[in-house]
Amino acid sequence: MPLYLDDFEPPDVPDDYLRALLRIAASARDQPINPATAVNLLRSFVMPLLAPEHQPFFMLSGAQPSWERLYLLYANLAGASEGRDPDLLAAATLVDRVIRHTTSPPREMSFPQHLELASFERVVTYLGLPAGHPTVQIGGHVLRLYDFCRYCWLPAGAKGVCRQHSTRRVEMATPLCGAATLKQVQRLAPRFAGELTRLVSAQEWEFHESNFSSPILLPPSGLRDWLKERRPALAAQLGQVPSSPARTLEALLQLLYGSTGVHVLEAVAGSVHLLTPITARAEAWYTAWQARPGWGGQRPGAGRRTDGASAP
Ligand SMILES: [Zn+2]
Repeated sequence: MPLYLDDFEPPDVPDDYLRALLRIAASARDQPINPATAVNLLRSFVMPLLAPEHQPFFMLSGAQPSWERLYLLYANLAGASEGRDPDLLAAATLVDRVIRHTTSPPREMSFPQHLELASFERVVTYLGLPAGHPTVQIGGHVLRLYDFCRYCWLPAGAKGVCRQHSTRRVEMATPLCGAATLKQVQRLAPRFAGELTRLVSAQEWEFHESNFSSPILLPPSGLRDWLKERRPALAAQLGQVPSSPARTLEALLQLLYGSTGVHVLEAVAGSVHLLTPITARAEAWYTAWQARPGWGGQRPGAGRRTDGASAP
């Protein structure tokens, strides 16, 4: 299948990257694009736009190209951008468009290999802690907390996005990401991936370097201090809640899940370490959101009360 340009709006990238995307589409014409063709097209038109030191990202080593391997390329480019480098971000965006829009309707990829879950599982396995797949039951529905929305940390529905970021948006007491529209979270995705890769890699690296002793999992006590050190963007949003661990956990879950936070609290209260990958996603998302140029002062959840009530 060719590149279906009609299925999406022009991405927010510099002109030379936009031209590269059009050249990919023109080059493919009506021919099908499989992962091997996609890699060749990206190497021909996108790779030369990057600085020489970043071009080796496109040299996928080892096995046959696959959409999954291309997604790893996307994550690597976004990660290396640290959410800032415009060329790497633009290249990541183009890789994403080629993956998703070489079929119609767009190919749904789970974002990006859930490296935060893979990392979490390695760490808990090493420490001999239960990993599990936490679920929460709300209104007769069982939601799996680790089935993440493509654009945030909330549980996704059938189409891979949460209720806040589906096209049929539901208004409810909003979690932190709830004020961002679908279009905004789509634009934010490369930066989010970059921040997430950076955060998760740094923490796992630290864990190994500390000879497996660094406390990178959410702790049952001392949560407030842990958050300040390891999830500073979220800690800042918690504001001045009473410092008891129970209240901190309650406030954190309200921040992350809005009105459904109470159910999540019941589901994980005995095993707060299960929140580690979720808070990694939330921290990365919110860091990316705050760093978004031109959105100064516009924060989701601004004016949020932290006394247990939802913001108006
Ligand atoms: Zn979402």
